[in-house]
Amino acid sequence: MKSATASVPTRPAAGESKRISVLGATGSIGLSTLDLVGRHPDRFSIDALTAHTNVADLAKLAVQHGAARAVISDASLYDDLKAALRGTGIAVSAGPDALVEAAMGDADFVMAGIVGSAGLAPTMAAIRRGADVGLANKECLVCAGDIVMAEVARSGGHLLPVDSEHNAIFQVFDEARADSVARIVLTASGGPFRTWTRDAMASATPEAAVAHPNWSMGAKISVDSATMMNKGLEMIEAYHLFPVSPSQVDVLVHPQSVIHSMVEYIDGSTLAQLGSPDMRTPIASCLAWPERISAPSPKLDLAELGQLTFERPDESRFPALRLARHCLEAGSEAATVLNAANEIAVAAFLARRLGFLQIATVVELALETISGWSTTTLDDVFALDAEARRITADLIKTGKIAS
Ligand code: NAD
Ligand code: MG
Repeated sequence: MKSATASVPTRPAAGESKRISVLGATGSIGLSTLDLVGRHPDRFSIDALTAHTNVADLAKLAVQHGAARAVISDASLYDDLKAALRGTGIAVSAGPDALVEAAMGDADFVMAGIVGSAGLAPTMAAIRRGADVGLANKECLVCAGDIVMAEVARSGGHLLPVDSEHNAIFQVFDEARADSVARIVLTASGGPFRTWTRDAMASATPEAAVAHPNWSMGAKISVDSATMMNKGLEMIEAYHLFPVSPSQVDVLVHPQSVIHSMVEYIDGSTLAQLGSPDMRTPIASCLAWPERISAPSPKLDLAELGQLTFERPDESRFPALRLARHCLEAGSEAATVLNAANEIAVAAFLARRLGFLQIATVVELALETISGWSTTTLDDVFALDAEARRITADLIKTGKIAS
């Protein structure tokens, strides 16, 4: 990896303008972040924007937001990005090392909006230099939670949870009295197949799986919501973000996605955060933290909604929840395998090479196949992640998976 000079940020005072970098600027989280940045030009300016392959959108966003630099992580697209930004004065770079360098610029706040463990290296680079990080990329914490959180503690930066459930908990969790917390309750919409039978799910198409009833999101997280692996990943994410034990992390299905999560205290008080299902609310709370800024998310009209409903999660129809619970208790190596196997299985499902129900089956098989690893460094995690990807791809290719 190329060496880059880290810039340690001094935090802007209240009301002062913040410099922002957005990793994954062209995605759903990236665009919502930039929408808010554009609404508050006096509060925010842009250092770096990154994307994987979408040169045209990246160039357009970089010009629109006056970015200092644009980074395309697919190195073969360097010339295209260079041509698209010629004459603008915006610096251009490409490849995985450039992605890490983008996270090491002079931004006060880095939005970790890349999907999957591909976001781990740049997110760690931002954490390491003590920047405040808005963490949307939950896969980082699932595959390397212990290492990431140790680095947050060492560097003194803040890891601000963007995921709506974790942002909700962050807003109502009394860190100073963590021993007064009985449990945290992550709410789940239940996804597009909440009421489907296993037989119906067996022939679910990618189009049906990505059609989330409440949230508009990227393809991978939408499929994760349909399998409910998303909630499983979020259980592991919550365990790392908050001082709780695995048995204190619960899931409750709440189809309207209005209560974004809850903290139950030992005296029986339950504190919740509510809002319309629009990611610009949790993103705004992270961008401005510890202050607040206005966001265009529709305001809640509870009288109009009339009813909020709740159900227990059904692990027999959604086995991903059981697998994630197992990994939460088994420890960090199992979670690394869970995440990598799931990324490969979801990509195969989206490419129509794997059935919907086989996503959880193949993840379970990968968990049974891989053992004996111990991950104490980031390089160990990258090695296990690569091994789990290789084995999962092999399991899918050989077609030995029954649904
Ligand atoms: P998305 O698919 O819409 O966008 C992903 C972004 O990452 C794009 O900018 C893409 O260019 C970039 N990217 C993809 N693969 C990459 C790679 N290999 N290397 C570098 N960059 C790459 O995804 P999204 O819905 O915005 O989700 C981003 C992250 O935020 C995910 O981890 C997701 O779980 C989390 N999250 C998303 C939402 C949401 O509402 N979309 C909510 C909560 C959490
Ligand atoms: Mg979420």
